[in-house]
Amino acid sequence: MKNLTILGSTGSIGVSTLEIVAAHPEKFKVIALTAGENLDLLKEQINAFAPQLVAVKNEELALKLERMLSGRKTAVMHGVAGMIAAATASDTHMVVAAIVGAAGLLPTAAAIEAGKDIALANKETLVTAGRLIMDMVKARGVKLYPVDSEHSAVFQSLQGHRKEDVRRIILTASGGPFLNLSGEKLAQVTVKDALNHPNWSMGQKITIDSASMMNKGLEVIEARWLFHMPAEKISVNIHPQSIIHSMVEYNDGCVMAQMGIPDMKAPIAYALTYPGRVPTGVKPLDLTMLSGLTFFNPDIVRFPALQLAYRAMEDGESMPTVMNAANEVAVAAFLSGRIKFTDIARSIEKTMDLHHPRTLSSIEDVIEIDQWGRERCSELLQSF
Ligand code: NAD
Ligand code: MG
Repeated sequence: MKNLTILGSTGSIGVSTLEIVAAHPEKFKVIALTAGENLDLLKEQINAFAPQLVAVKNEELALKLERMLSGRKTAVMHGVAGMIAAATASDTHMVVAAIVGAAGLLPTAAAIEAGKDIALANKETLVTAGRLIMDMVKARGVKLYPVDSEHSAVFQSLQGHRKEDVRRIILTASGGPFLNLSGEKLAQVTVKDALNHPNWSMGQKITIDSASMMNKGLEVIEARWLFHMPAEKISVNIHPQSIIHSMVEYNDGCVMAQMGIPDMKAPIAYALTYPGRVPTGVKPLDLTMLSGLTFFNPDIVRFPALQLAYRAMEDGESMPTVMNAANEVAVAAFLSGRIKFTDIARSIEKTMDLHHPRTLSSIEDVIEIDQWGRERCSELLQSF
């Protein structure tokens, strides 16, 4: 029996994780859940999985949830302290880190410190604090398994091979809903257009990141830390069908790829059950039903966000933190209708131009730089 804490249980990844748990009650037990604001769904999850502890975003929501639960034994906490309590609960073996954004950093770091294994969906944790997090993982001897489909594909394609034989990692990208849109039209797209992803159903922030290709930029940085690979050994191919989830090329010219129907339940389950595999309900891949698999290079002129991530890695370690913070602010501004789609990359770049990169010495340092990046980007956006 594996005891789980799920951080962000009401989100897209959280819900898919609980579907796997529900399908294999003999394998998993839910110890703690955390959510932002969706109390109705959290209440349903509490009734179905009877966790010891739950945490929500703030005190007001916690009080409301307590009233909704009337008499249930589940403890209700709130805020960062609540998220950390859930992440470090003594009975928990593995923490599924599925909060969106840098808000996931502190609870994930606390889980690692407490010696919990991690199934990592929250890529922003590695983007903002990659070196520190990987150092902590090593020092505490915990296992960190990727949930992101590309990184799960790379992880699977590395099984049984030697790291020193790897020539490069090839991350695939669907290209998002605007793959074939002209630069001019990109400036006019609506929030609704941007949220209409062709292949994946995901939370709002990552869906916008996919449309701008910033998601792939975040993933290159994530891969850099997860697989200890320099940026020049990580490349990106657009693959609109999202059937090959990523690849590893070896120095003899052989390429290992992982394929499957795009459904996050497959990589989530692999992170939960590695090295074993369990049925996930993911539809089987019928290759004869595919009209073809295509691959091409990303267009960095129309989608500058990907290049910003390579620049951030080159500039140094606090720069990805600033890039990520600016992206979160810009995506929120786009979602609320305050800026154009093309302003997202523009405002991130301008924020990065204001930053002088420096070494990050602690998680507190990261939080401070993250805050700095948010403030600068918000100020810049006032003149957009
Ligand atoms: P989502 O928006 O659907 O869910 C996010 C979860 O985090 C929700 O439970 C929400 O309540 C919670 N949350 C949000 N802000 C919070 C805060 N400030 N404090 C506490 N909780 C908060 O997002 P998602 O699509 O499930 O993505 C989660 C993470 O997984 C992201 O980092 C994303 O990049 C990554 N990821 C998602 C997918 C996918 O298919 N959805 C694929 C790969 C990676
Ligand atoms: Mg991904």
